[in-house]
Formats: sequence, C-alpha cells, structure tokens
Amino acid sequence: MKSKSKLSLLLILIIFIFGCNIKQNKVADIVLTNGVVFTADTINSKAEAVAINDGKIIFVGDKSGVQNLIGDKTKVIDLKGKMVLPGFIDSHCHAISSYRYFFELNLYGLKTYEEIQNAIKKYLSEHPDAKYIKGRGWSNTDFPQNGPDKKIIDKVVKDVPVSFSSEDGHSKWVNSKTLELAGITKLTKNPEGGVIERYPGTNEPNGTLRENAADLVYDIFPIYSVEELMKGLEAYQNMVLPFGITTVHDAYLDAGSNETEAFRSLEKNNKLNMRFRASLYIDPGKSVEQIKSLIDERKKNTGELFQTNSAKIFIDGVVEGSTAYLKQPYKHQTNNYGELLWNIDSLNKMCSTLDKEKFQIHVHSIGDAATSVTLDAFSFAEFHNGKRDSRNSITHLQIVDKSDIKKFKELGVIAVPQPYWFIKDDYYYNIQVPYLGQERADEEYPMKSFFDNDVVVASSSDYPVTIPCNPLVAIQYGITRSKLNTKDSTEVLWPEERVTLEQMIRSFTINGAYANFLEKETGSIEVGKKADLIVLNKNLFEIPVTEISNAKVLLTFFEGEEVFVDSSFVPY
Ligand SMILES: [Zn+2]
Repeated sequence: MKSKSKLSLLLILIIFIFGCNIKQNKVADIVLTNGVVFTADTINSKAEAVAINDGKIIFVGDKSGVQNLIGDKTKVIDLKGKMVLPGFIDSHCHAISSYRYFFELNLYGLKTYEEIQNAIKKYLSEHPDAKYIKGRGWSNTDFPQNGPDKKIIDKVVKDVPVSFSSEDGHSKWVNSKTLELAGITKLTKNPEGGVIERYPGTNEPNGTLRENAADLVYDIFPIYSVEELMKGLEAYQNMVLPFGITTVHDAYLDAGSNETEAFRSLEKNNKLNMRFRASLYIDPGKSVEQIKSLIDERKKNTGELFQTNSAKIFIDGVVEGSTAYLKQPYKHQTNNYGELLWNIDSLNKMCSTLDKEKFQIHVHSIGDAATSVTLDAFSFAEFHNGKRDSRNSITHLQIVDKSDIKKFKELGVIAVPQPYWFIKDDYYYNIQVPYLGQERADEEYPMKSFFDNDVVVASSSDYPVTIPCNPLVAIQYGITRSKLNTKDSTEVLWPEERVTLEQMIRSFTINGAYANFLEKETGSIEVGKKADLIVLNKNLFEIPVTEISNAKVLLTFFEGEEVFVDSSFVPY
C-alpha cells in the first residue's frame, strides 16, 4: 500500500509540473493590451490585458503580465485605452424571423394608409407573379381603437391573399381574399385564446386577427424553405455581430420544422459565427403528448453552437391588443381583464411534465395576473418533481405585482426584460396610459426590484419587435429610463427602477450566459472561457451616460475569431 501511494504521489507531481510547463510555455495567438477590460467576473474586476490561444482566454491581467505570452506570431492589439467587454448575450429574440424581416414586404415605420398602399404597390411591381404577399411591421399604435381594416389592403390587392404580422408578432392583418380562402365569415366564432375583430355593431370580420385567431390563416401561405430561413439567419448574423452580440436565445422555434433544420444546416456547414440557444413552442391547444416531439427535437440539436433545451409558453397577449392578462381590468374596457391563454390545470400539468423532462421553461408574460399564474405553475412543478437547477424564465414582465418579485428568487426564476422598452415613447406609452390608467402605465417594467431581490436578470431585445437591437442603446435606457435625447426629468419612466452601468452590462453578458446554462463557457472574461469579447471605441465608465448609446463596437471576437471589424479600426 505504502509504495503504491508513493507512486501515485510521484505521478501527481509529474502531472502537476508538466501541466504548469504547458501553461507557462503557451504563446498567445492574440493579445489585447493597454485597455480597460471589464471582466464581468463575480466581483466586476477590471484588467488591462487579455490573451487568447486556440479560441480560449488564457490570461487576464495587467499589461506587464501579458508580455511573456507574446511570441513571434502573436497578433498584438494596442487598445490605447479602449474598452473590452464580454460579447453581448441577447436572451430573447427571434433570429428565425429574419427572412421575413429582410426579404418580405416591410411595413416598419410606415404610418399612413397611403404609405402602406404605396409599399404594397411597389412590392407588386417588383414581384408581378406573386401568388401571395406576406409582410410584417405594422403597429397597433397606428390603429388604436380597432385593428387595421382589410379594405385598406383590398384597395390595392384583391386577387391574391395578403397577410401582414404586427410588429409585436401577436396579430395579423389580412385582406378579404385571405379571409375567403380561410373560410372566416360573420358566422365564424372566435377560437379559444384568439379574437377575430369585427366592424363595430356587426359580426363582419374587419381583417385583424389577434393571438390564436391568426392561426386560422396559417395554411393559406406556404411555409418557409430551409434555404430561405438560412438566408435570413445569415443576414441576422451580419446585422448583430457589429453590435457585439455573440450569443442569443431564439425564443420561438417549432419542433420538427424547417426552422431547426436551418440552424443545423448552418452549423454543419460552419456558417454559424455565433452561438444559439432556443426554446421550442408549446401549443396550449394540445396535450402533454406534444412534449415527445420536443424531446426528439432536443436530441437532434446537440452541437456546440445550436441547442434547443427550452420550451416556450405564451401565457397572455399584449397590452396594445387588450389581451395582456391583468389583475385589475383595463381602464378603457372596464370588464376586460385580458386573455389567459391557458386553463390553469393544463398549464400546471404542462409545466410539471416539461420540468420532469428537464426542459427549461421560457414564458411570455406581460400582465401581472399572467406572471402570478406562471410563478404558481413553476411552483407546482417544483412541488411535484422536487427542487432542481431548472432556470426557468419569464420574459417581458411589463406589469408585475411587487409581491411576486421575491418568488422569482425563491423559485430560481430568471427575469428576461427588454430594456429597449423602458421609456415613455410616443407610441406604446401613449396607448398604455388610456388602456392601463396613469398609475399602472407609470409603473411598467420593473428592473432594480429584481436586482435588489437577487433575481438573475438577463436582458434582451425581442428582435424584430425591437429594431435595431443594439445592446448599447438598451444599456443606456436601463440606466436612464428616458428617451435618448431628453433631459426632462418628468420624462423618466419609473425613476426608482433605474439601475447601474455594471448591472446593465451584467444583464447582457454573464447573466445571459447563466440563463442559458452557458456561464462556464462564456459571459465573462476569465481564464478558461471561450474568447467571446468585444472592443468598444469608448470606456463606458468615463463618458456621460447619455453618450453610451453612441459608443461603437470596433471589433467582435467569437471563440477567438474576428467575426466583425469596423472599417474605421485597424487592429494590427
Ligand atoms: Zn418574443
């Protein structure tokens, strides 16, 4: 026994010495030095230099310490005081919608009927053989009382079906041809969890289909091909890498669809320049049997860059559609509490079954009642299956009952807000005041309360609901909670909920990594992690807060590869 233990001690010693030598002899592929590195480690430490080897971070420290890692072939970037941050993580977006966003009829920013009709005419002149027209981007705020009217489209397109998604993705605006092909008439009842809007005082559909009613026209339009979706995702990467985004969570993919196939094909062909995690959609109209297809889908996506370990549940709708589920009724419709898209028993059963199968659960929840119901369902799952590291999350969180915030912490639920929306903007806020009443509208989107209660907060954009999805803009909004160019303090949306720069950065980096079970790989600048990092032209800690949104990403590294270099920047 004695000699055996001596031998193993010797072996350990050899391994130790040999291991140390490997580390010491390592020469960096890339060294960034003479900068301000905000590491987002547990104590938010700062450093001057970072060294990268084989896609990983091998050194974080001062500029003298990095010197002995510089060899003949090392690329050295003198940052001259510029800032380095971990690559940004967007914890809720819809990258898969990019084909629609980049290549279909785009209504974003069009305000008048005329502008919309002209855009349709232009699209038709460019696509004279179009057998259908799909588009996206109209805003509920431009049609405040009822949704948009089919006649506006009918005037320019009568013979082919047209469907335009609203910018929040919760409603569809269609023409008469689409209604006809889908068989939607005066006699068609609203489906569960959906509304077919009618002209006031009649039963005639007006062309706006809300929530689950939008599914009624689904079969009229062909689904996207894998190639189209791939093209969209490549355009998406090209758009967000200049924003410094290196990991995202796609919040809504269908299991067994062309969508997941598109991600897999890109990964197989080495065309992913960033990391994707995703949630698979759960249909409230189907039983727990559907989870089998999620399990099958999860098994297919085990590559490093694309995984689908989460399930997506919609609990309610949106305030602008009067469908967010509230504890107190809407101000403008005093007997309307909004739409709960689930029966509570089925929701509880669904959550506990998903949890048992070790899926994370990612929930869309806008209203306070919706969030309470969601937390209860998570609690039900925990009670049945026992506590585990589940990392469920709730996103949007527009109106939240204060007493619920502690439950996030207790249940380990991650808050996934969109700080891009933390302002009294001219469109949404102006609708929210009459819909919710002044008091509720002024206490929208808590943020600091989550941090104060030690809840993990992972920020996100909900792209393409938010465009452009530049995290630096959101970071500024999170700190100021006011429009970019305003100095008027009455224009601050819920001033008590403003947070610090450090908190905002963490919400877009390490907390996002945690939300996606990636904190061991990315999210902070620490030795051993993947070299996902960005260089900014300015030190965010030294400029006025109102300048943060103007700062620029000069360089984006993904796993040590330069995936974006700004044309103004010559790194070497
Ligand atoms: Zn979303």
